[in-house]
Amino acid sequence: MDDATSEVLRLRECVDALRTKNSELERTAAEMHAAVERHENILDSITDRVYAFDKDWRFTLFNKPAARQVRELGKDPAALIGRIMWDEFPGAPIEEVFRAAMRDRSPVAHEHYYAPLNEWVENRIFPSSDGGVIVLQSYVTRRKRIEAYFTEGQKLSRTGSWAWTVATGELFWSDEHFRIFGLDPQAERPSYPAVLQWVHPDDRSALQMAFEHAVRTKGEYDTECRIVRPDGEVRYLRSLARPFVNGGGQLIEYVGSVIDITERKRAEEELHTAQAELARIMRATALGELTASIAHEVNQPLTAVVTNAHALLRWLDLDPADLYESRAATERIIRDANRASAVIARIRAFVKRGDDRKTRMQVKDALREVAGLVRHEALAQGVIFRLELGAALPLVLADRIELQQVVLNLVLNAIDAMRAAPDDARVLTVSAEKYGVDAVLVTVSDTGVGLDPRQRDRVFDAFFTTKPAGMGMGLAIARSIVEGHGGRLWVAPNDDRGETFQFTLPIAAPAS
Ligand code: ADP
Repeated sequence: MDDATSEVLRLRECVDALRTKNSELERTAAEMHAAVERHENILDSITDRVYAFDKDWRFTLFNKPAARQVRELGKDPAALIGRIMWDEFPGAPIEEVFRAAMRDRSPVAHEHYYAPLNEWVENRIFPSSDGGVIVLQSYVTRRKRIEAYFTEGQKLSRTGSWAWTVATGELFWSDEHFRIFGLDPQAERPSYPAVLQWVHPDDRSALQMAFEHAVRTKGEYDTECRIVRPDGEVRYLRSLARPFVNGGGQLIEYVGSVIDITERKRAEEELHTAQAELARIMRATALGELTASIAHEVNQPLTAVVTNAHALLRWLDLDPADLYESRAATERIIRDANRASAVIARIRAFVKRGDDRKTRMQVKDALREVAGLVRHEALAQGVIFRLELGAALPLVLADRIELQQVVLNLVLNAIDAMRAAPDDARVLTVSAEKYGVDAVLVTVSDTGVGLDPRQRDRVFDAFFTTKPAGMGMGLAIARSIVEGHGGRLWVAPNDDRGETFQFTLPIAAPAS
């Protein structure tokens, strides 16, 4: 082979090698192109806006949503590449946060309101390997709005919410929760032991038991307690919670609410005081109606005392004094004076300011005492008063004075109704008997004018009266007292004449 031929062969080999290299390069270029396109596709498919900056804050990249936003702000995205962010958007409110992220080379998340777009935006800023940063930006206006409604709703309803992660013991509180407890969200870190410290000492163990029982049984709870704020103010709360359990039955989290019910509680207390005061006035009014009868009841023994005292003097004046008769007269004086003072004591007990004092008692005793107060009045109105107490009855848990007030009201109403009826057969029957397995039934029945059917539903309403001097509070108070004892009060017409009012009282639990 001559030199020329071998040269040709060498050149051919070179050309082949170059060809191979070339097609390799072409393949690599195509692959690179495909990779870039893939990345661009990925970037563009991210709904967040993606911006990249070099270390000098020059724009190096936008995805499509970012480019759209830039155009909305009146700029050309292509022309922005290579330009410095702070020259293009001077006075951006987040400059400090952005610069800190660039300087510290650590990821930062930050939310702010961006007026030119009228949107709340969240920026997540990540350091990139070229010394710059990448910013992922999303709109969070909707979430912000929901949060604002939520916060406003919590404020309006005075409801705070919390979540407790079982595994870590971590406790989250909403802002309103902090506010209800009078605590600063920035300064306090809530925890279960800390919550117990803020709960009123008298309510602490009850709340602890309710919560720990719920956790043990993976159940809900709904309880009331008081808390003491750092400034010493006591607030009443309703606290409810429900568990979240995973598919495997494992308790994951408790989510709960605390509702500030202080105003409601105070109103309830005031209502209770006002009701008690009104009840006392009504008792005094009822007794006022009985003044003549009561005066008579006190007068009778006093007259007897005077008569016996005269007799005593006469027995003593004899010579020798008749000590046997004197002693007998003195004993009668003591008996009658005691009788008068018992009537006075009964009245005093009846009008005194009553605190809610329930005791285990015999209904019959209260009925007998009321009978003692009204017997004379009934007689004066030509009413036959029948007290039917029958067999022994179980005890009830009741406030004696309130119970007497209910019966006295019903009895006086019955006497009124019979006063307005024809003279014959005025009969008032008061009885007590067992009712079902767990209650005692008291019945007050009359032969009076009865109720107008159109007014039957209204007699228990406050201020409903058909009497010229009536207040219309008697039956309203009677019903609230009976219901406060866990019973019911109702009325039904008799077959022939008059009305029958009846109420139940639950039987007291056996003494422990
Ligand atoms: P007051 O006695 O001041 O009117 P109440 O609440 O005790 O107030 O009674 C309301 C009304 O119910 C009475 O005015 C009367 O019209 C009616 N009422 C109550 N008890 C009877 C009864 N036993 N028979 C007929 N009407 C009655």
